[in-house]
Amino acid sequence: MPSPAETALLDQLSAATNHARSFVHALAYTEGTPVQTTASMWTRLQLLNVALAITSGQVHHCPHLGDSPTLIHAAVWAPGRLVCSACTSTLDPSPTEDDTCDRCRAPGQELYGCTVAVGPLILAYGLCTPCLNATHHNAETHAAGNGDG
Ligand SMILES: [Zn+2]
Ligand SMILES: [Zn+2]
Repeated sequence: MPSPAETALLDQLSAATNHARSFVHALAYTEGTPVQTTASMWTRLQLLNVALAITSGQVHHCPHLGDSPTLIHAAVWAPGRLVCSACTSTLDPSPTEDDTCDRCRAPGQELYGCTVAVGPLILAYGLCTPCLNATHHNAETHAAGNGDG
């Protein structure tokens, strides 16, 4: 039997995970894009980068993220940064970064905004059309394109 404290923690983690999942579903619904349920290798590598940054202590997070599980936002274009839902605007890319594909790094692209949720973490990234097709070919990720990069 888990202790009451452990149970509370697991409940919070479960709630945060459900929150992340519904966030991605709501975004996909708003944008009229499909939600896919497995991640491509490239997407997995981006998630691994986030995990490595966390485990090696190389992250800067907003002051609202504490020990309790809650929804966490990260972006491929802002490596090493984690923020709560209230602070997502601090992840906004610069105008140059906003036109740069997160996969091939080609500048001046029209990008498709995508998100992938793992546990309570939501990772955002922007892909150019060829990279979107390469990454999400085979219907491969929790993704929500918004077309405005
Ligand atoms: Zn915050
Ligand atoms: Zn690209």
